[in-house]
Amino acid sequence: MKCPICGNEDTGRLNKSRYFCSKCSIEIFFSKKNKLELFKILEDGSTNPICVN
Ligand SMILES: [Zn+2]
Repeated sequence: MKCPICGNEDTGRLNKSRYFCSKCSIEIFFSKKNKLELFKILEDGSTNPICVN
């Protein structure tokens, strides 16, 4: 899985449909319809949706 933000190909896999980019601290998530969703991981551990298009 390549990070759509920074192009880092060394992303970590959290489970079947979730990936993590340590370079931009984002979580990459594929929804049921294979829609790509990105979440910024904040310092307190919570996540914020990122809009990409
Ligand atoms: Zn990245």
